[in-house]
Amino acid sequence: MKETKDHAALAEVFNADEPRVNWHDETLWFIRQKRDKAAHTVADWELLRETASQIKHNVLSNLHDYLLQFEANAKANGIIVHWAADAAEHNRIVHAILQKHKVDRMVKSKSMLTEECHLNEYLEENGIEVIDSDLGERIVQMAKEPPSHIVLPCIHKKKEEIGDLFHEHLGTPAGMADPQVLTEAARQHLRETFLTRRAALTGVNFAVAETGEFVICTNEGNADMGAHLADVHIACMGIEKIIPKREHLGVFLRLLARSATGQPITTYSSHFKKPREGHELHLVLVDNGRSIQLGREDFRNSLKCIRCGACMNTCPVYRRSGGHSYHTAVAGPIGAILAPNLDMKKNADLPFASTLCGSCSNVCPVKIDIHDQLYKWRQVIVKEGYADTKKTLGMKAMTQAFASPATFQLAGKAGRWFMRNVPFAVNNKLNPWYKQREMPAPPKESFGEWYLKNRKKRDE
Ligand code: SF4
Repeated sequence: MKETKDHAALAEVFNADEPRVNWHDETLWFIRQKRDKAAHTVADWELLRETASQIKHNVLSNLHDYLLQFEANAKANGIIVHWAADAAEHNRIVHAILQKHKVDRMVKSKSMLTEECHLNEYLEENGIEVIDSDLGERIVQMAKEPPSHIVLPCIHKKKEEIGDLFHEHLGTPAGMADPQVLTEAARQHLRETFLTRRAALTGVNFAVAETGEFVICTNEGNADMGAHLADVHIACMGIEKIIPKREHLGVFLRLLARSATGQPITTYSSHFKKPREGHELHLVLVDNGRSIQLGREDFRNSLKCIRCGACMNTCPVYRRSGGHSYHTAVAGPIGAILAPNLDMKKNADLPFASTLCGSCSNVCPVKIDIHDQLYKWRQVIVKEGYADTKKTLGMKAMTQAFASPATFQLAGKAGRWFMRNVPFAVNNKLNPWYKQREMPAPPKESFGEWYLKNRKKRDE
């Protein structure tokens, strides 16, 4: 695949399988509807969203102080705290901890941060085997694919495809696609993994500054199984995951599960405060571009994100183009405003992968103005010269035409003539707009011509 990936081209690959697109679209819409129902069971839902947004606003405004407070309390609890400026440093820190303990096999629960840092690839290159223990993550790991959704990593896969993967990797009968049988096979496989790994890595959903503890939310209990059975627990978090007080968890836990899957609460919300006796608990705090985003006034609110995935489930573009078309660890609307911060050139296409309908901002539990930021990123990308060349030239030509009535009239006339006499000049492979559209019949005259003629008639 070429170095600079393009959302539209990747979406076309996904779109080639129409039944998959329809089923992907309907499944995610079903989850969006579950979210709506769950939200309506909370009388003060909007107040809850506003409160969460304000708490996160406070965190972002005082991030430095909260981080230091968290570090001091975590250390006092016996947690070994590390700081990583970027993905490379994060990966080196995790590797060094594993080396220190002579561990070459690790179990890992879901962590989008480690996806962002490409930790699995790094560790595998260094001879360390990593088994993902979240079922969806394990499935995409077997398929050698990245997750396509932050909450539902293998939402793009059909059960028959999962059956084929399990047959190949876990020895289930060929053609077996019964979810219950497949889940049982995964359970046995992961049980053996949990029991034999001496190191476990987890993500972090919330880190509480006042207590130095952190909370991990899962539905499968896999983070707990890994962390409790291993001698070494490494937890990795982006620096924006801080919340000031434990009492704030009541706000975020109620919002997270309802927004993500329509559940009142995740099955497991586990608190980790200190290592068990004789065990080690490490925490890696990672920046990787977050402080740069914090300094971008128009985009700093994106750091309020609690990774619920609601903006993906509701997005008409995400639902019909699939997560892999975003070619970045976090897909969908939120990914499209986070990724250009990390690499504006490589991710210049992503803010354009949106209808700007605003549905993402409407469902976001922490009230991030996602669609406004998408629009603002477009302006930054064009200004910085990273926009698609064809589009830029087209826009320049349009600007010229709209700036001069004579050019506008002439262009309209020429366009109508071409559409009538040489339609393939407009409707061809170079014009993606017509790939799924019928060309409309060209009007006989422009509105301007019609108006002049009819006004003249009326005046006569
Ligand atoms: S931007 Fe909002 S809706 Fe999207 S994942 Fe983050 S918190 Fe959820």
